[in-house]
Amino acid sequence: CLLAWYGGDEFAIIVSSTCSKDELYTMTQRLLQSLKTACVIDNKEELSLYLQPIVNIIIENRLSTAEALVRWENEVFGLVPPDKFIPLAEETGLIHEIGTYVLKEVCRFIQGFRKKELNPIPIAINISLKQLENRNFAREVENIIASYGIEGKNLEFEITESVSTGNMEVIAENLRKIKGLGIKIAMDDFGTGYSSLAMLLNLEVDKIKIDKIFINNIEKSRDEKIIRTVISMARELGLTVIVEGVETEEQVNFLKNINCEYGQGYFWAKPIPIADFEKYVQKSIFCDRVEE
Ligand code: C2E
Ligand code: MG
Ligand code: MG
Ligand code: MG
Repeated sequence: CLLAWYGGDEFAIIVSSTCSKDELYTMTQRLLQSLKTACVIDNKEELSLYLQPIVNIIIENRLSTAEALVRWENEVFGLVPPDKFIPLAEETGLIHEIGTYVLKEVCRFIQGFRKKELNPIPIAINISLKQLENRNFAREVENIIASYGIEGKNLEFEITESVSTGNMEVIAENLRKIKGLGIKIAMDDFGTGYSSLAMLLNLEVDKIKIDKIFINNIEKSRDEKIIRTVISMARELGLTVIVEGVETEEQVNFLKNINCEYGQGYFWAKPIPIADFEKYVQKSIFCDRVEE
């Protein structure tokens, strides 16, 4: 199912009921053509990368890692959110171009830190199912990070439960090699898929990121119990827990009370353009860098 948009300041979704099938088709083709131009021909000038801090809640909101989040801004379509263009990129294979762009940008960023003799914090990258199904994926990652002189411990990969619908043999082999490079694996959006627990059973992940839907209504006792239970299960399994989408002080206090170690959300910071992130890190007194 494809959706289409029109440009201008307001980013509007045209649902099939408001326009003819032909119009929808034409818009979708234009959107796809623009995405293709942005990813393949245009030297990725319309793509950019943001970093969002992940903090240690227990140790005074100390910066721990950051997640890389891609943005696509197009003249006609405006700022298209990743939730919209990543699925299109996955369908068309453009996700491989985007994935390579993101990894290289992150490596360049880490390299910049190194050159200034600062110890970089690890950066987490979202990896799509389609990338993990590429038999050469782990080797490509190894080559790229080697070409930037980056070690695996400077990176983390976030995967979602959607991997359970893919070619498990190839995916498991890629993950094994990636972990062999020292890259940690996090299960993203934990709890929203239909096989969260089965995935923990089958894949050796290091971290889980509890989806923001569970923290949204923390005043509801049921949501609270779910988070508590997931955290104690994760502890039992030796997994690190990160709670996503933390926006209020009340939520932070709740997480502190139940001894949840890591959080990410607008409460601490929105995603920051990669060019401004170094400034943010230097300004941040609560900075927990990787020990060499
Ligand atoms: P995600 O990996 O779960 O990333 C977290 C999303 O939550 C981001 O949305 C982030 O901006 C948003 N967020 C963070 N804190 C808060 C908060 O306090 N409140 C609310 N309401 N939202 C918060 P974003 O950047 O729009 O990305 C959406 C999704 O697109 C990501 O979800 C990820 O699945 C995908 N994505 C983003 N960048 C990439 C990428 O480089 N590659 C791939 N394959 N997927 C990506
Ligand atoms: Mg993520
Ligand atoms: Mg998530
Ligand atoms: Mg997501």
